[in-house]
Parts: sequence; C-alpha cells; structure tokens
Amino acid sequence: MRLSRYLLPTSKDNPAEAQIASHRLMLRAGLIRQEAAGIYAWLPLGLRVLRKVEAIVRDELHRAGAVELLMPTLQLADLWRESGRYDAYGPEMLRIRDRHERELLYGPTNEEMIHEIFRSTVRSYRDLPMNLFQVQWKFRDEQRPRFGVLRGREFLMKDGYSFDLDEAGARKSYQQMFVAYLRMFRRMGITAIPMRAETGPIGGDLSHEFIVLAETGESAVYVDRDMLSLDVPGDDIDYRGDLDAWVDAWSVPYAATEDVHEAARFEREVPPERRVRTRGIEVGQIFYYGAKYATPMRVLVTGADGIERPIHGGCYGVGVSRLLGAIIEAGHDERGIVWPDAVAPFQVGLVNLQQGDEQVDLACEALYKELQRAGIDVLYDDRDERAGGKFATMDLIGLPWQLVVGPRDLKQGMVELKRRATGERETLLIDTALAKLLKDAHRASI
Ligand code: ATP
Ligand code: MG
Repeated sequence: MRLSRYLLPTSKDNPAEAQIASHRLMLRAGLIRQEAAGIYAWLPLGLRVLRKVEAIVRDELHRAGAVELLMPTLQLADLWRESGRYDAYGPEMLRIRDRHERELLYGPTNEEMIHEIFRSTVRSYRDLPMNLFQVQWKFRDEQRPRFGVLRGREFLMKDGYSFDLDEAGARKSYQQMFVAYLRMFRRMGITAIPMRAETGPIGGDLSHEFIVLAETGESAVYVDRDMLSLDVPGDDIDYRGDLDAWVDAWSVPYAATEDVHEAARFEREVPPERRVRTRGIEVGQIFYYGAKYATPMRVLVTGADGIERPIHGGCYGVGVSRLLGAIIEAGHDERGIVWPDAVAPFQVGLVNLQQGDEQVDLACEALYKELQRAGIDVLYDDRDERAGGKFATMDLIGLPWQLVVGPRDLKQGMVELKRRATGERETLLIDTALAKLLKDAHRASI
C-alpha cells in the first residue's frame, strides 16, 4: 500500500475528548473516527487490525470445532417476548419500528435468535454437541459510552453458543471454549486472565471473564502473580481429549474481579509478594446457562431414550472491537502504538527519506515489490514529506518494522532497519535487511 494513496488522517494533537492512551492513539493514528457518541467509522488502518483480530478469533474457534454463521443485526421483538427478555431488557436496547409498525430491535446479543434457529433445524441427540458462532455488530445504548472502542454503543462482538444434551456435555463445551480463548488471546500478543465471574440465578462455577490487566480498566481485579507466566496449549491441542489439566492450571490460582473478590481468601491463598491488585479490561466472557432459554422457548431434543428434553446451553462472547483498545493499552509508549506482530496492520513501514531522488525512489520501489512478492504487508511512505514527519508517523502507527531508505546509506548499498518495540536500529546491506524481514515473517507465520 502506498501512503500517498491511502487514507491515514494522523494528528499530532491529543484530542480533548480522549481520557486514556488507547482512545487518544486510535484517534491520532487515524484508526477510527467518532460519528456519534459511541459509534465509530473504521478507517482503513483500523479496519486492517480489526480484521486481523477477527481472523485469529475465527481460526481458533474453528480449531476447537465451532461453526460460523451470520445472523442479522435486526431482530423481531416478538422473538424476545418468547424468552421474556423484551420487557426485562432496559433502555440499553435500541427499539425500532418499521413502516408496518412492526417492532424490531438492534441486537444487543443473540441468545433468542440462535435458539430459534436451532429449534427449527435440529431435533435429535445425534446432532449434538453443536457449537455455533458469529462475528457481528451489536448495539447497546450504553449510558456512558467512553474510552473509544472500549465502551462503544455499536461494537463488534464474537458471540458463540453451545448446545448439549446434558450438563456433562455442556461442561465439556465450556472447557473447549475456555481453552480456545487462552490460545486466541495469546496469539494476539496479550495476556487475558480468566477470572471467576458471577453466574446469576443458575449458580455453579461455570462463568469466567477474560481480563487484560491495565491500570485504565473499568474494574478492580485481584490476581495471583503466577497467572502471568502460565503457558497456553500448543496448536496440537486435542479439543476432544481431556482438557481438565489446562482448565485447572488456569482456574485454580486466585484471580477475581471486585464483584466476586474474597479478600480473606486472597490473603490466605496468595503469599504477599504474589498479590497483584490492579485494574482490568474484560475482553471476553464465557457462561453456562443450562436451560434458561431452552425451557421458555421450548428448544427440545429427543434423546436416545426417545424422550424430549430442553438442551443445555452456554454462550461465549469476545469483544472484537474492544480488543483493539485493550491491545493498545497493553502496548504503547510515549511515541505511539506498538502493535504485536500478529495483529499489526502492516508488518513493515518502508520510509523513503528523499522522495524525488532517482536512486532512492528506485531502491524503494524495488524493495516495495520484493516485500509484496514475499507476502509481507508493507506500507510505503512515498509522500513528499520531511524525514522527521515520516518517522513520527511510523512511530505513531506502530508497525513492527521500519525500513528506512536514504541517499547517504544507499550510496554504500545500505538501508536502516528499525524494530518499533525496542527502538533497536541496524544499518544493513539491502539484501541482509530483506532476508531478516523474510525470516521474521516466516517465524511469525508458524
Ligand atoms: P461489560 O460488563 O463490559 O458491560 P458485558 O459483560 O455486558 O460487558 P457481555 O454481554 O459479556 O458484555 O459481552 C461479551 C463481550 O463483548 C464483553 O466481554 C466485552 O468484551 C464486549 N463488550 C460488551 N459491551 C461492550 C461495549 N459497550 N463496547 C465494546 N465491547 C463491549
Ligand atoms: Mg460480560
């Protein structure tokens, strides 16, 4: 991509409305634009990251055996009357009427619709277990939309739903999603810690919120420091096999949000030097809710014994758009964003220090082609701008590598390669720099 043809409205000034780093940086780096309170347009650079995050979520869910579908954003109010939630859901629900005075709503979540789809398509225990998910926009008319995409009104969510014949099956489905979440967040370059969460009227131990530690998070959290260095399963994980060991490793050490925190237990179980008290951002939540929807909506499956029973359900959410804010909260410095490789909008920023100089232009064009041929996403700054401005833009948008081509080094056949995260720079022969980028891209894709 050539920057001269791209839409990248960066800014030096801190927008007054943004109180936290991720919000400021997403606006300044031209990732998003607010169109109304809590409603954002995704500009090209932001959209690339959103799509990468989404792709990791999708890939890990497929690996775990879940199946993707797509439901509409608008739903009939009558569907929600079946579960009793149309009246129960408060002013967060955006209610709409069409030209025929039919009542609709913009979905804040999709339990009703997925149960409706399931009940009209699946009848037999032989079709279970089933795990369906979508990545779709949601609308919640939040009282206080704030912190940019962290608490928007329109936001992108992955919502998944499992259907099982009994509680034991549902527990297994829950474990599969628990482990898939460990892998997906780790792949995005962040640590999200599963914390026990309130389960509501159903009770039991089957709800976790996945929380990224950040001082700017909305809820206080209490964590055993040991959780910060736990491994996640490799990609050879067998989701049909026994997942107890992974789930135990990640749910036995103390980790709780303020809602369920037990101070006495925290102090009893965690030695003082391992007690972490900080704040966090919820990037996902998983939940077993049994027959909460199946009973009122009559979602029945015939078992091997010929008897019809309500299915046991679970739901699994990931805040896809919120994740961009959380990733930036966890990875930035005073100059801008520092994207983890796996979600960076481009891997390499190619900087032409002397646009219009024939030799420099030729060298840049050749590098640009070469990188693209190797399948590396590269953003080529071919604008007629001062070097200082180009460097500032590259640091702000946070691409993992900067490849800098200027007249002086080029005379020796050299370019400069800078790693954004560490600030480390090396002046290398062109081929050596290319080889290093190719090797890094290869490593990142394994
Ligand atoms: P919160 O407690 O932050 O309001 P929630 O518990 O109501 O969120 P869920 O219903 O669990 O949210 O939705 C699944 C995921 O969607 C959440 O874990 C979160 O990452 C994301 N999410 C929820 N509300 C918003 C929002 N207003 N803006 C952006 N992401 C959101
Ligand atoms: Mg939640």
